Amino acid sequence: MNDPIGLYIHVPFCRRKCVYCDFYSLAGKEDLTQKYVQAVVRNIRISGMTFDTVYFGGGTPSLLSSSQISDILSAADIAEGAEISAEINPDSADTQKLRDFRAAGINRISIGIQSLDDKELSVLGRLHNSEQAENAILSAQKAGFENISADLMLGLPYQHTETVLNNIERLSELGARHISAYMLKIESGTPLSENDELISNIADEELSADMYLEAVSCLEKNGFKQYEISNFAKEGYVCRHNLKYWRCEDYLGIGPSAHSCTGGKRFAVPKDIYGFINCEKQEEVITDDAPCGSSERLMLALRLSEGFLMSQAGDYENRLRAAAVPMEKHGLLKISDGRIMLTPMGFLVSNEIICRLSEVLEEG
Ligand code: SF4
Repeated sequence: MNDPIGLYIHVPFCRRKCVYCDFYSLAGKEDLTQKYVQAVVRNIRISGMTFDTVYFGGGTPSLLSSSQISDILSAADIAEGAEISAEINPDSADTQKLRDFRAAGINRISIGIQSLDDKELSVLGRLHNSEQAENAILSAQKAGFENISADLMLGLPYQHTETVLNNIERLSELGARHISAYMLKIESGTPLSENDELISNIADEELSADMYLEAVSCLEKNGFKQYEISNFAKEGYVCRHNLKYWRCEDYLGIGPSAHSCTGGKRFAVPKDIYGFINCEKQEEVITDDAPCGSSERLMLALRLSEGFLMSQAGDYENRLRAAAVPMEKHGLLKISDGRIMLTPMGFLVSNEIICRLSEVLEEG
């Protein structure tokens, strides 16, 4: 048996596009779900791989039926004890559906809450309100899920730090075990990118930084330990699947726009649902034929609180340490046990830090 790897399944359907979203997903194409599921099943069988994590992302995986989820999981060779996650949206997941997902094998639910403030949800073009968002967590618990994650967004138009902190406190009270807190990004081509009024009311750099740092300390206070720039978990609830991305471990991505890193190469599947469902095997375009070199490992590892093990830099370990020491003095990172670990302040400027430290490896 091959060593188990991660499996990502991209579910490219949404009821409606949110104003900020540039993920590959189509609104009003739910009639294609059955053909799409058949194509996913074909590709899983062709892979012949064993998986110890499975992640249904999107798009909106909760638009699939539980029998479709079950068909996909039955086609996969899944190792015992695997983490099997599905992203769901509060408007398309009631208790019964969640019970059926649980029965189909899903054991981790990630809920696209984004905010518990009705005004913020409506600005984002989300289809749910705060009551539905709270109910989604309660329904997941009633359906037998313990491993529940919630997505939150920071830096929204008109948002105050206080709302973010209230959201975190409330999610904690409701029993979320994992929170992903992402800063809003304005992606070109989205309706948000063309809405001057909303853009002019987005938090400036100073307020965003303040919001992030306050959110991190509120999450820590509520028992959510930071393990990645945007990810926080109670003890025992880190997302094993997502860790594979940052630790440069192998994963296979299935579905239009999905990425893979396996067999020493990175691939991407074209963003074309018709191409995907009409081909026997998905098209895979190589995007990197020598991934996971030392500077890429450094870049990914510095996103994690566990940081980068400097001995992985080989002959450049001492130069890397020398480049990191001044940043440690500024409180941007810590050097301990042979590792470089960014602090929350460092995460705020992670791109600059990663750039400077990668240069050391590249110069070599
Ligand atoms: S539900 Fe998620 S994937 Fe769908 S449009 Fe909104 S943000 Fe994008």
